[in-house]
Amino acid sequence: MKSPGDQDNVSVSQGFRVMFYMMKPSETTFQTVEEVPDYVKKATPFFISLILLELILSWLLKGKPPGRLDDFLTSMSAGVVSRLPSLFFKSLEVTSYIYIWENYRLFDLPWDSQWTWYLTFLGVDFGYYWFHRMAHEINIIWAGHQAHHSSEDYNLSTALRQSVLQPYTSWIFYSPLALFIPPSVFAVHIQFNLLYQFWIHTEVIRSLGPLELVLNTPSHHRVHHGRNRYCIDKNYAGTLIIWDKMFGTFEAENEQVIYGLTHPIDTFEPFKVQFHHLLYIWNTFWATPGFFHKVSVLFKGPGWGPGKPRLGLSEEIPEVTGQEVPLSSAASQQLKMYTVLQFAVMLSFYEETFANTEALSQVTLLLRVSFILLTLTSIGFLLDQRPTAAILETLRCLMFLTLFRFGHLKPLFPSLSFVFETNTPRAEVCQLTHQEENDFKVITESAGQENLTFSLLPFQTTEHCRRQASWPSCEGFFF
Ligand SMILES: [Zn+2]
Ligand SMILES: [Zn+2]
Repeated sequence: MKSPGDQDNVSVSQGFRVMFYMMKPSETTFQTVEEVPDYVKKATPFFISLILLELILSWLLKGKPPGRLDDFLTSMSAGVVSRLPSLFFKSLEVTSYIYIWENYRLFDLPWDSQWTWYLTFLGVDFGYYWFHRMAHEINIIWAGHQAHHSSEDYNLSTALRQSVLQPYTSWIFYSPLALFIPPSVFAVHIQFNLLYQFWIHTEVIRSLGPLELVLNTPSHHRVHHGRNRYCIDKNYAGTLIIWDKMFGTFEAENEQVIYGLTHPIDTFEPFKVQFHHLLYIWNTFWATPGFFHKVSVLFKGPGWGPGKPRLGLSEEIPEVTGQEVPLSSAASQQLKMYTVLQFAVMLSFYEETFANTEALSQVTLLLRVSFILLTLTSIGFLLDQRPTAAILETLRCLMFLTLFRFGHLKPLFPSLSFVFETNTPRAEVCQLTHQEENDFKVITESAGQENLTFSLLPFQTTEHCRRQASWPSCEGFFF
């Protein structure tokens, strides 16, 4: 069974409206999961457009950007890292759902009824509320959510600061829906619910009037990201704020919100952003005496300790003064610009990898993922100004050259690929014909040049083949 997203039938209008859950049942009802478009994958241009719009509005309204460059890069890095597993595995939320549906469902609601569509909207949002609440109230689930809260700024890039671990726990909270709601309807709403939560990460929108009563809004979600005592464990909503009002976790925005974790991690390094809390749990687990206390370390709140209530003591949360200085990189402006450039180059490889996943071998995918992770780590080291940053960056550049030389990365600018070409005589390729599955025949027009027939390695694209085939000596390289 294919994962959602193999369809391309998302118009620009739909791509925009889906960011705000403004979709009609009639245009988003599908019989099978295979037909469900990958709305999240197609959202990249809208993410970028809205981030640029927020930048402009922030300059106009406040005379400054909505955040800081180092924090922005770290958020974008987390967004990249969180999506890398999907290059190798199908969405756990959808695959586990399908498994339960196929084996344990109690009855089938009709996939093409608009009542099923609206019920799923509510069901997914309800499931998200409880997942999100448990992600803050159970230490081991918090380890897979805290990355999202580690930004000390609050802007649209914060929405992309996602945890790579989160899907391994969130699926549990949606599984009851699989007892009666068809996977194709669920696969639509799980994406809409996620995309809706993008635009609420902004300070540009202050209040939405009566909509604040029903919807989760930027104001409500700002409270959720606050480390002020009044903000802790509040406003877990995804799309509708009604759940917080029903279950007693709602808090309106009043005094100035200071963003981030109650104990900031003070780093821009992506692995620490993602995994530091696991290490904290590990150390706390072994340092806490008694079996039941150890179990409590895992399953009670992050602030729990022996003798304390389940969610810890509110007076132990550091009080905010409004004078907090967010972590800022000591790197020079030139070095920051360098990291932005390297991030942009990495992002183009990242997008190209996602666009051509099917055509790439597992080896190439692994090498590319390693390169992406090394790039993000190196950027983190440079922003953190660590002593080993220069060595790591040198190693990264060497890895880039090696991957490029052996065809695991596609040149961004084909005209610059001459750097890696040899002095062997060139023969212009005039035709490339497909023989069998992976066999290609290159017909050259140069007189006396033998025609070449060779197989494409799994990671090589036709374009790559065309370029390489212009070297008569390339056979040794290929095989
Ligand atoms: Zn949260
Ligand atoms: Zn958020």
